[in-house]
Amino acid sequence: MPQTPRSVIPRARRARAALLASAVSVCLIAASAPTSAHPQGIGDRLFPTLGNPGYDVGAYDLSFTYPGRNDKPLTAVTTVLARATEPLERVNLDFARGTVRSVDVNGLPADFTRTGEDLVITPSVPIPEGGTLRITVRHTSDPVSPKGRDGGWVRTDDGLAMANQADAAHLVFPCNDHPSDKAMFTIRVTAPNGYTAVANGLPAGVRRAAQSTTWTYRTAHPMATELAQVSIGRSAVTRHQGPHGLPLRDVVPAQDREALAPWLKKTSGQVAWLESKVGPYPFERYGLLIVRAKTGFELETQTLSLFEKRLFTEPAYPKWYVESLMVHELSHQWFGDSVSPHTWSDLWLNEGHATWYESLYVQETAHRPMEKRMKAAYGLSDYWRVTGGPPAAPKGPKPGQKISIFRPNVYDGGALVLYALRQEIGAPAFERLERAWVGLHRDSSATTADFERLASRTAGRDLSAFFEGWLHGRKTPPMPGHPDWKSSATPPPPVRR
Ligand SMILES: [Zn+2]
Repeated sequence: MPQTPRSVIPRARRARAALLASAVSVCLIAASAPTSAHPQGIGDRLFPTLGNPGYDVGAYDLSFTYPGRNDKPLTAVTTVLARATEPLERVNLDFARGTVRSVDVNGLPADFTRTGEDLVITPSVPIPEGGTLRITVRHTSDPVSPKGRDGGWVRTDDGLAMANQADAAHLVFPCNDHPSDKAMFTIRVTAPNGYTAVANGLPAGVRRAAQSTTWTYRTAHPMATELAQVSIGRSAVTRHQGPHGLPLRDVVPAQDREALAPWLKKTSGQVAWLESKVGPYPFERYGLLIVRAKTGFELETQTLSLFEKRLFTEPAYPKWYVESLMVHELSHQWFGDSVSPHTWSDLWLNEGHATWYESLYVQETAHRPMEKRMKAAYGLSDYWRVTGGPPAAPKGPKPGQKISIFRPNVYDGGALVLYALRQEIGAPAFERLERAWVGLHRDSSATTADFERLASRTAGRDLSAFFEGWLHGRKTPPMPGHPDWKSSATPPPPVRR
């Protein structure tokens, strides 16, 4: 049981990752010779086979039928609407779990085969460049993970939720599973009466039948596959209003509704606080999905962040700490969701910013100075760079532990880069940069180089040497304004429990 506020943090991803040794990226796919149907990827440095070249997805339509228990596959129909960016004789989708029953392309039956983590489709008529693709896949979606491959569906005490980051959406549905290809989503869930199904976005209809109910939800903004959320459970849905009428919607286990109510009231003030820092909330609604499950992390699924129930009910977690994680996931709606990473090496843009606002919130509301946290991070930064790589050139995931890219080098290490930048260019320029960043790249994806360029433009001077050291260097540069701060590459002493 945690004894001190700081020691409770290992339940979150950042510190869990700190326990992992340095990782070596192993690409097994590269060793196999290409055949007529072979796995493809768009060349992400950390996940080479994620995503597929040759098309751009505009919309997904997902339909799931829940059988009433979470250890059996759901039946599903996934329709992908895309535009070919080159002539296509074959189309690859990422899909790695579940059975494919049939595939249609533009209304005609298509041949398909499975290879690696790809579903390779041969349309009966080749698709010309610029042509429209409407791919319908009838398949199952299996919530039971084979050993060593977590992610995708999360089995809760009363149903299912989703945690697809970074590379697990294609364990749930066939897709172009990369955040650089965002699309609109319609999500439809049929479940036996007694269950409630909720997904990202706004409700678009409920249809009740004798034994089951079908809920439909639609996003009002494009979304990355990794941020899709579907909750099926014995849930209570609470609705209230946030700042300027922003609809807030929370989904909690029905039996925990009263215990969780005081926490849910905090969201509105947190949204107002973040809007005062970075500008308007970027989506159509927000809310918390709180589940009875052991995930070991919280996740910023778009418009509906996923949290473990025990974060709110375990008395050992201080109030400021719980609120800081709420603000962390809320910050991601701007940094990570509205502005997605263009590659997974840009992950520090997500986690560095979310850690930054989490830390700033705690400074302003709980009198826990950010400078103290940043000084501690500075002390560990060289070690984090040795074990995880520089913030913008992180080491790859460990084989079988793809979540291991979520290391401290991108969390407090990423926030430390932002702290150094604010020291370097001053608070007014830094605050202008933050607002400009989420405004300029809203509903899109962006790279680290985009951030560097915008920072230079905002500061009115070339910051490339600054970023070279802070984002790409093997050693932590001196901290502007704090020449006495020291960093060490030796492992920190173990946390006492
Ligand atoms: Zn995060």
